[in-house]
Amino acid sequence: MKKIATIIGTTGVGKSQLGVEICKALGGQVINADAMQVYKGLDIITNKMPMHERLGIQHHLMDFLEPEQEYKVTQFKDDCSNCIESIWHDNQLPVVVGGTNYYVQSLLYQNSLIKGEDVARSPSPEPMPDLDVLPTDDLYQRLQQVDPIMANKWHPSNRRKILRSLQVYYQMGRPQSDIIKDQHTHHERFGSQARFPSIIFWLYADPLQLNPRLDDRVTSMIKTGLFEEIKQLRQRVVEGQVNLPPGQVDEQYQRGLWQAIGYKEFDPYFTALEANALSMEDLDKIKDECTEKMKTATRRYAKRQVQWIRNKLLPTIWNAKQDDVKIYLLDAGDLSLWNTNVRDKAIEVARAFQNGDTLPDPTSLSEAAKTMLTQTELQDTQSRILGWQNHTCPICKTDKGDQLILYGDIEWEQHKKSRWHRKSIKTLKRKAAMDMNRPNAPPPTDD
Ligand SMILES: [Zn+2]
Repeated sequence: MKKIATIIGTTGVGKSQLGVEICKALGGQVINADAMQVYKGLDIITNKMPMHERLGIQHHLMDFLEPEQEYKVTQFKDDCSNCIESIWHDNQLPVVVGGTNYYVQSLLYQNSLIKGEDVARSPSPEPMPDLDVLPTDDLYQRLQQVDPIMANKWHPSNRRKILRSLQVYYQMGRPQSDIIKDQHTHHERFGSQARFPSIIFWLYADPLQLNPRLDDRVTSMIKTGLFEEIKQLRQRVVEGQVNLPPGQVDEQYQRGLWQAIGYKEFDPYFTALEANALSMEDLDKIKDECTEKMKTATRRYAKRQVQWIRNKLLPTIWNAKQDDVKIYLLDAGDLSLWNTNVRDKAIEVARAFQNGDTLPDPTSLSEAAKTMLTQTELQDTQSRILGWQNHTCPICKTDKGDQLILYGDIEWEQHKKSRWHRKSIKTLKRKAAMDMNRPNAPPPTDD
């Protein structure tokens, strides 16, 4: 049976190690799904597993691109699919070890990628006005003009939502409601169909346990040669061997290798160092600031990775038409318990999956699994927005004498239980009763 295993989770949680352990135990090969580790060399800044820790397990899609090359997600999907085929051909288990969310999702699901960069921009988006300075009323009026559907969905005082919809409009050059409709149509047509039967291991560590580990890792990266790598890379840029992507500095650092955490954060330090104009003391100060920036960026990245799993991947898995993709959370919070909590459990479940045996209930594996994998308030933004309806209460009136409008189902449900609404009903009934007592009153009607 053609199956794959995938390991996801935040940075610094031990994905590479588990990948090697599963391959050792079950006969497998690793495929890298981290957008930084596709680059040649630069082992420290890209967090590559040292050769001697790979224990002879073959690693695919690693270490093959030059710094100036960009690797598109579609390219990854094709290359990864070829690797999977060839590993199956060797009668082994492909183990995808992924740090880059959209790589993983594009691999696991058919046509699941229609987000952000993939939504075509209009050829000439309007320049974005300075929205932050405008009062909420003005923002709302603007939204009513450019995207009345979204304006209707948001409460006129919900500044955050209104602002977001306007930003989407100016950035993409199309109304947000159009984009959502496209995504919905796409989803209806293609569904989120799994491309392969797959078992996912989500390595999870509570931020309280993870964050100090991430900080330590930054410190250790600096000790083991991060600066050498950054210096060499900068030198190659200066000598014209490597070109930065075109655009402003901010944009350049959002593409390809240049996004690697550490390179841009230490830019002020190296710029000062290269200018050779500061005292050692001042340089050290900048260095400390940059180190802090790198730590913050690392923690933020880890947080985003978990958000993606919870808000995008889990709903996709749970809403899928078939249950070809199973997800197991392994508690990697306490490294001293790695072998029992992570390695052994993963191998046991992966073996059962490979043999087609009965799999354990994912929420039974640990307390963390129970908390994180229980389907409470599963909120798929897309369906929530599309299913949005404003309700006009037929009974209640505002101070101005208009019928009251409730923005969305939740508000409507709450309103129906509210004292205001109940009071309005009472008033209405009392009036009806009085009418009945009058001669020639109309017959009573049901509520
Ligand atoms: Zn009402």
